[in-house]
Amino acid sequence: MWPHLGRKIFVANWKMNGSLAFAEAYGTFLYEQRATIPQGACAIVCPPAPYLKAFCDAIQGVAFLGIQNIAAASKGAFTGEISANMAKDIGCCYGLVGHSERRHLYRESDAVVLEKMRRITEAGLAPILCVGETEEQREGGRMEEALYQQLCHVSSLGCIPGLIVAYEPVWAIGTGKTPTRANIQKACRVIHDILEAQEMHDVPFLYGGSVTAANAQDFLSLKEVQGVLVGGASVKADEFLAIIQHLDKIS
Ligand code: PEP
Repeated sequence: MWPHLGRKIFVANWKMNGSLAFAEAYGTFLYEQRATIPQGACAIVCPPAPYLKAFCDAIQGVAFLGIQNIAAASKGAFTGEISANMAKDIGCCYGLVGHSERRHLYRESDAVVLEKMRRITEAGLAPILCVGETEEQREGGRMEEALYQQLCHVSSLGCIPGLIVAYEPVWAIGTGKTPTRANIQKACRVIHDILEAQEMHDVPFLYGGSVTAANAQDFLSLKEVQGVLVGGASVKADEFLAIIQHLDKIS
């Protein structure tokens, strides 16, 4: 049973930010504020890998741990890489995969994304698969095509326990721009149809891209949206907590 099932999901992706002291202070803050975290919220925090253990010790189970990236291989001569099993060993339950920064800065293809997802699943972690169209694809009316390309082979992995899909339009990540609610609803329908055609049902749908404490409620109040993936704004513990606390304001 995955901790996120039946709850609203809040993912913090710190990217390459923070320090050991920051990770300890962030974990301690959320632990001390645990009574203010709504019951129906599932917080998943993805610190940089070197700080996972310190964060895990500080947070004492109040949030779940995710790894930002794992290797496509399971073990061996891959200097500098971290395997999904290693992430599991230090307490991770979730693994981000397919993030646009990995796809674009490190040229990770859909085939590599699938292989990483296979490793995450084999290790017993739940994948948080990020998908989304670029600005050029959006302007060219090719959002559906982009999502199809990123998702059409997912079922080749067989059953993917705990799978979560995060819709993150590339043009919205770190830019302060966000899609309209109607755009998000449309993306959710498209993703849902692509997955249903592969017999993948009830996959939680997250929105990610310039989510802040000021706009989180707009996204969380959509019935299609089971949660948010937060990058920049999650690097402030109090802002991430404020985003989670919006759950109490939604009827
Ligand atoms: C992200 O890193 O996945 C992300 C959505 O970043 P930001 O919230 O900064 O746009």
